[in-house]
Amino acid sequence: MPELPEVETIARGVHAAVAGRTIEAVGVPRPDVLREVTARTFAKRVRGTTILESRRRAKHIVVTLDNSDSLVVQPRFTGALLATRGSELTDYDRHYTAVLLGLDSGYVLAYRDVRRLGTVSLMNPERLGEYFGELGDEPLEEGFTGARLSAILGASRQPVKKVIMDQYKVVGVGNIYANEALWRAGIDPSRAADRITPGEASDLRDAIVAVLDEAIASGGSSIRDYRNATGEAGAFSEFLCAYGRADEECYRCGAKLIETHAIDGRQTVFCSHCQS
Ligand SMILES: [Zn+2]
Repeated sequence: MPELPEVETIARGVHAAVAGRTIEAVGVPRPDVLREVTARTFAKRVRGTTILESRRRAKHIVVTLDNSDSLVVQPRFTGALLATRGSELTDYDRHYTAVLLGLDSGYVLAYRDVRRLGTVSLMNPERLGEYFGELGDEPLEEGFTGARLSAILGASRQPVKKVIMDQYKVVGVGNIYANEALWRAGIDPSRAADRITPGEASDLRDAIVAVLDEAIASGGSSIRDYRNATGEAGAFSEFLCAYGRADEECYRCGAKLIETHAIDGRQTVFCSHCQS
């Protein structure tokens, strides 16, 4: 599933390719990805508008239109938002495209989703505020300090890994970057959140921010179907220290990394020697 860095990369790529362009044609070949709007209403509200910007909020891409509506795309497992020349869409892209917007520049904005578990919504500003208002802290915003994370952790007895992956507490940190941040901070992922000291919370905050920033800088990690807005894979997978490295040597202490699914049913990889 794309996490914050992948969605940030997609949103920036889409912005660079389509901001300022007008949507001339709207097609919804697979309307089951739509939420909160019918295909007919979607087409009517979107056609003829100009794209003001594309940005990330949590794990969503928010494309704001000049009629104040926003397209809200949540790629989830296999979704990709491609901004490319219409002639460059492959047969694979076309087959799995659920929503297709034709722009005045000759580009298209295509939401492609093989399993169609992702969603596309259209929201007015009020609904947008309500929808995102329920979510947790943005880890790359200034307010996300060590003290803030310490307060969030202190309110839960759940394993620290589960808490930092909880979208109602901190947004955008999924399984890959939770594993990485906990490894960097030297914290055992199964520890009860309310037993994490303020100093450890501060280290963990720094590790979360660093791992997300580095992943954005390398265009995200390529896991399964993730592609950026121009259809390219990300490079961060090569730098992962914990995720996907079960039974390999810890880069910090040389001990063998351990894999467990006992914390949250997901793959957790950690070093029992230097994460405590
Ligand atoms: Zn180690």
